[in-house]
Amino acid sequence: MIEIDGARLLNDLRTLANFGKAGTGVDRIALSPLDIEARRWLVGRLAEAGLEAGLDRVGNAYGRDPTTSRAILIGSHTDTVPMGGWLDGALGVIYALEIARAFRATGGSSGVGIDVISFEDEEGTYLPCLGSRSFCNDVTDAEISAAQSKTGDRLSEALMRTKDEPAPFRLDPARHVAYLEAHIEQGPRLEAAGRRIGIVTGLVGIRRFRILAHGQADHAGTTPMDMRKDAGAALFRLASRIATTFPKIGSAETVWNIGSMTLRPGAANVVPSEAEMVFEFRDTQTATLDVLERHLLEWVAESSNAGPVTVTAQATTRIPPTAMTPAIGDAIATAAADYGEQTMSLPSGAGHDAMVLGRFIPSAMMFVPSIGGRSHDITENTSDADIVAGCRVLASAVGRVIATAAAR
Ligand SMILES: [Zn+2]
Repeated sequence: MIEIDGARLLNDLRTLANFGKAGTGVDRIALSPLDIEARRWLVGRLAEAGLEAGLDRVGNAYGRDPTTSRAILIGSHTDTVPMGGWLDGALGVIYALEIARAFRATGGSSGVGIDVISFEDEEGTYLPCLGSRSFCNDVTDAEISAAQSKTGDRLSEALMRTKDEPAPFRLDPARHVAYLEAHIEQGPRLEAAGRRIGIVTGLVGIRRFRILAHGQADHAGTTPMDMRKDAGAALFRLASRIATTFPKIGSAETVWNIGSMTLRPGAANVVPSEAEMVFEFRDTQTATLDVLERHLLEWVAESSNAGPVTVTAQATTRIPPTAMTPAIGDAIATAAADYGEQTMSLPSGAGHDAMVLGRFIPSAMMFVPSIGGRSHDITENTSDADIVAGCRVLASAVGRVIATAAAR
C-alpha cells in the first residue's frame, strides 16, 4: 500500500507554481531560465526522495530508483504554454514525485521500483514533445537544428542553457515496464458527469485538411444566382454536409472542427472567387478516421465534378491515434473503486507525452476534473480534494501495476 501525503503533495504543487507565477497561473515556457530553475528544484526534491536525480542535455528531469533493475515510469511535463495554468503537466509530475516518495518510505522491496520524469517542451514552444521524443530516441539532430519558436528563437540556442548536462536519458525497455501519466482533463466531461477519475482509452489521431474552392468574382448585384461561380457557396454546402453526416458515420467520440473559413476577395458586393476552409477531425480509431476521410474526399470530388466551381482537398496533418494499455486502465479502475470513485472512460482529445511513450512501452493515462473545463489559461484549476483523491487512486494503481510486474 502506497500511502500518499495530501498536504505534502499540495505544498509541492504550490511551490512549483511559484516558478513563473502569473496571477492564478504560470508562465514557464520550455527551456526559459525559470523552466530550468523549476527543473533543478524538482531534481532536488527527487534526490531528497532517495532517487538518483538529474537533468539531461535536453532539459528532461529524471529520478531513477537506485534499488531496482526494473521500474514503473511516472511523469508528465513542467513547461507551460505562455500564461498557462498551474496544473497542466505539473500535476502529473508532482503526483509522480509524491508516489515515488511514499513508495520509497515503504521500503519497496518487490524488485520493481518507481522512476519519475518531467519531459521538456511538451507544449511545443520549439518542438512538441521534445523531451519524451528524445527519451524514446525518436528525434533527429536535424529536427533539433531546424526547430524554432513562433518568435524565431532557435531551439539550439535555448539548449545552450543545458549544454553542460549529461547526454540524454533514454528509455530502457528492459527496465521501464510501463509508463503512467496523470493529467488534468482540460475539458468539461468529468465535471459534467460528476466523476473524479477519468481513464483514458487512447489519444486521438488527428487529420487536418485545407480545402480550396476556385470560382469567379462577379458583381453580386448584377449576376443572376444561377449564373454565378460562387466559391464560398460550394464550401458552405460542404460544411453543411459535414454537419449532417459526420455525426452518423463517426463514432460517439469523434470530434471535428472547421477552424478557419476565408472568402476572397471578401466584399459584400463581390461573388467570392476563392474560398478556403481549414478542417480537422479526431478519433482514437484509425478505421473511423479512414471512413471520415473517404466521405470527405468523395464529397469534395462530387462537388468539383458537379461544377461550376472546382474544389480540392489537401491533407496537411496526419497524426495517428495512440492506444493505451487496457490492463493498466483496469488497474486504475480497480484502484478508483477501492476509494468509492466511479470512473469515466474517455479519449484524450489533446496530445500528451503518453502519445510518444505509448508507442514504445505499455502506457496509461488518468485524468482528474478541470473546473469549468478551463485549461491553457491562468484560470485553469482543480479542487484540492480532487487533486488529492486523484493521487491516492494513481498511487494505488501503481501499487497494483508493480505487483503484477513483480510477479512476472
Ligand atoms: Zn500537458
